Amino acid sequence: MAYVINQEKCDKDDNCLEACPVEAIEKKEDGSLYVKVDECTDCGACEAACNVAAIYRSE
Ligand code: SF4
Repeated sequence: MAYVINQEKCDKDDNCLEACPVEAIEKKEDGSLYVKVDECTDCGACEAACNVAAIYRSE
């Protein structure tokens, strides 16, 4: 399992990127943000840091 960023809700700020303790969130050239599933430890820090509730845990 890993956390997922809903691209339609995401406002592309860097809150989640800065909150992730293992640098598992990457920013693409167009500014969009993605969780690297192989590196995510499921800590939930990014979900808590998101102002627009764009991050959720996938089953
Ligand atoms: S759940 Fe934790 S480890 Fe995974 S992307 Fe979010 S902040 Fe990083």
